[in-house]
Amino acid sequence: MSISSVPLLDINRANRAIRDELLAAIAEVVDSGRFLYGPAIAALESEFAAICEVDHGVGCASGSDALLLSLMLEEVGPGDEVILPSFTFFATGSAVWRLGATPVFVDICPDTFNVDPAALDSLITPRTKAILPVHLFGQAADMDQINAIADKHNIAVIEDAAQAVGAKWRDRAVGGIGKVGCFSFYPTKNLGGVGDGGMLTTNDDDVADRLRLLSSHGMRPRYYHHIVGINSRLDTIQAAALRVKLRHLEQAAQQRRRNAARYAELFEQEQISGELELPATRDNVEHVWNQFTVRIKHGRRDEVREQLAARNIGSEIYYPVPLHKQACFASLEVPAGSLPESERAASEVLSLPIFPELTPDEQQHVVTALGEILRSKRAAA
Ligand SMILES: *Cc1c(COP(=O)(O)O)cnc(C)c1O
Repeated sequence: MSISSVPLLDINRANRAIRDELLAAIAEVVDSGRFLYGPAIAALESEFAAICEVDHGVGCASGSDALLLSLMLEEVGPGDEVILPSFTFFATGSAVWRLGATPVFVDICPDTFNVDPAALDSLITPRTKAILPVHLFGQAADMDQINAIADKHNIAVIEDAAQAVGAKWRDRAVGGIGKVGCFSFYPTKNLGGVGDGGMLTTNDDDVADRLRLLSSHGMRPRYYHHIVGINSRLDTIQAAALRVKLRHLEQAAQQRRRNAARYAELFEQEQISGELELPATRDNVEHVWNQFTVRIKHGRRDEVREQLAARNIGSEIYYPVPLHKQACFASLEVPAGSLPESERAASEVLSLPIFPELTPDEQQHVVTALGEILRSKRAAA
């Protein structure tokens, strides 16, 4: 059977297979009328905590809010600095900015796209309040070195694990390696909801309690406010739907890993390694492949993406502009050339379809197309 198109992501394939389960779970919430504070929320929080091997899960409205709440927990504010990668989704940086603190950007390792721990030490100042590593594309950052540096300076580590539910660093699940883990249930994440949602994870009872207070207007009991928090709730329909999806998460992760392994084989046969670099996986991680991100060499990335699109093959650039180059952060005046690997990654990366239900024929189609495009001479400008 010939293939005419391959989407970057087709969430309907997964949802079709569990449609009845999902609708039954949603119907139960509708019938209960408990759209907020329903029993599915606490159930999901404990099931999610088990996956992250932590004592507590605290639901919130989004991954962005999870980041904001963890920085509020640390009382990050004006005059403080938070170290984070520049090569990440915007929300990692905006959480710092929103609280009036200064984002300080650390460069990445070129092979994993994650925080380069060797670059951290020189960025720490007396104002540094937290380090915010991102487990980008589903692979854990080097948490041994990051925690060691943070411990030495008595600084909190907040994990942005939005793309990495179920991923491991050595034998430890992400979300429980730093002080707080931040997760997103945005529909394209490995555990995607039926709308927005997020989760905070921690092993510390007091931290969990404080995060609950911060996410509910600092209110306890009702209408008595101890601190000024925000309103950030995970709703019951999300929690009920996510509990259904959670039952299929491990299998989906295995399918993503199988697809990544298949890409490695197919690309080897295609022999275009001079034109395209495959993503590297460290020996001591369990990767969950939220994205399969290659580098396209020789300045051809945008052209290659257009040619894939012309063949109805989906791809995406995560991320085309590192945070230090975003217009809204211009006032930070990051010195030119100080984050070379972040800038090079932004100009070379291209994410290819890797979703669990992707078929072997579709993968072959993607690789064959890339082979043809990369072997052809660049069209005259
Ligand atoms: C998706 C994502 C977020 C934000 O999550 P939302 O639920 O969309 O707010 C934060 N950080 C990273 C790295 C993400 O990929």
